[in-house]
Amino acid sequence: MDFEMPASIEALAEEARAVGEIVARERPLREDSWVIGFDRGFSLEMGRRGWLGMTWPVSEGGHGRTPLERFVVTEALITAGAPIAASWVGDRQIGPTLLAFGSVDQRRRYIPDMVAGRTSWCLGLSEPDSGSDLASLRTRAVRRGDSYVVEGRKIWTSFGALADHCYLVARTNAEAPPHAGLSELVVDMQSPGVVARPIVDATRAAHFCEVEFDGVHVPAENLVGTVDGSWRQVTRQLEHERGGIDRLVSNRALFLDVLEHVDTSDALVRQEVAALEGAFRVGRLLVLRETLGQAPRHFSAATKVFCTELEQRVAGFCARVLGPGSLVWGPVARAACYAPAYSIMGGTSSILRNVVAERLLGLPRA
Ligand SMILES: Cc1cc2nc3c(=O)[nH]c(=O)nc-3n(C[C@H](O)[C@H](O)[C@H](O)COP(=O)(O)OP(=O)(O)OC[C@H]3O[C@@H](n4cnc5c(N)ncnc54)[C@H](O)[C@@H]3O)c2cc1C
Repeated sequence: MDFEMPASIEALAEEARAVGEIVARERPLREDSWVIGFDRGFSLEMGRRGWLGMTWPVSEGGHGRTPLERFVVTEALITAGAPIAASWVGDRQIGPTLLAFGSVDQRRRYIPDMVAGRTSWCLGLSEPDSGSDLASLRTRAVRRGDSYVVEGRKIWTSFGALADHCYLVARTNAEAPPHAGLSELVVDMQSPGVVARPIVDATRAAHFCEVEFDGVHVPAENLVGTVDGSWRQVTRQLEHERGGIDRLVSNRALFLDVLEHVDTSDALVRQEVAALEGAFRVGRLLVLRETLGQAPRHFSAATKVFCTELEQRVAGFCARVLGPGSLVWGPVARAACYAPAYSIMGGTSSILRNVVAERLLGLPRA
């Protein structure tokens, strides 16, 4: 098997690495830049370089490039620490969802702005009492004339206070079984009745929010796909969220930095470095398999578990090998505090193991 990338792909990766390194120098941190690096200026730069909507059809306003090209660009940018968060949700999953389920009018309205890096999106799924069990969500959207009126509360909404649009999943049918009464709406975050309150996390970042929807009127034309048909759509969307390179390289730069300072004459340290590096390469192949469409359906659950648990091992390793020095607040202490989030966001490892057990292996439900 040949694991070398073609020269043209290597050249593209090199360009993205160089751009990423330059922009990252201006920033306090390189880690988790797809979550905490919110910079609209850099989104516009990505748009100018053709690095948003890379694989979307040219007829829809995208660039018609290959998944491998998108893979190397995003890997290089995130590894370098480039602030791609402002465009990430749109590029990773909302664009593909609109291309799959949106109307012609919706695609014309939203896709060009995403590709240019002009808009930012947030994802309104989780609620105070509905996270893993998404089907139990209670935010309601009731049809009144030409609008839906939305009432409810979302939580952990990344970029809720900064985004232009929220991709909201709400209950449109209270009579149907929980999975069968949900629909998807695009909500303008400037609409009257939308209030986003940032939540400060353990690392003092405040990228996610509690978002209240108090009688928010949303034009009925903003409903995406089928009324009450969200379950099938959102399951597809989560596949985009789980199998990507963002779940592997969030703290890759930190690992490489820390390696410069560790005592590799210690055999135990050497063994751990080898184990982490070996697992990184396996994880990268798993992501490549997802990228190239070669993974079985639902395997993104396994890929995310493997990759995010590795990111956690990396954070633990960095803190351990630097010893007490890592307790001083800085990138390593921050990484150790942040690491638990990797296996929670985008579906917890427990839930994803259930997916692997039931849908991939066909094991009986507990
Ligand atoms: C950094 C970060 C960013 C996020 N961004 C967003 C966002 O932008 N938009 C959004 O909508 N959400 C976002 N989330 C929320 C995230 O999707 C939820 O936290 C996650 O789905 C878990 O839901 P929960 O927190 O309600 O935990 P719960 O569902 O209450 O789970 C609590 C614990 O119980 C376990 N558990 C629950 N049910 C089962 C089961 N059936 N079998 C085995 N174990 C189970 C879980 O694994 C977990 O350990 C974000 C979270 C984080 C940490």
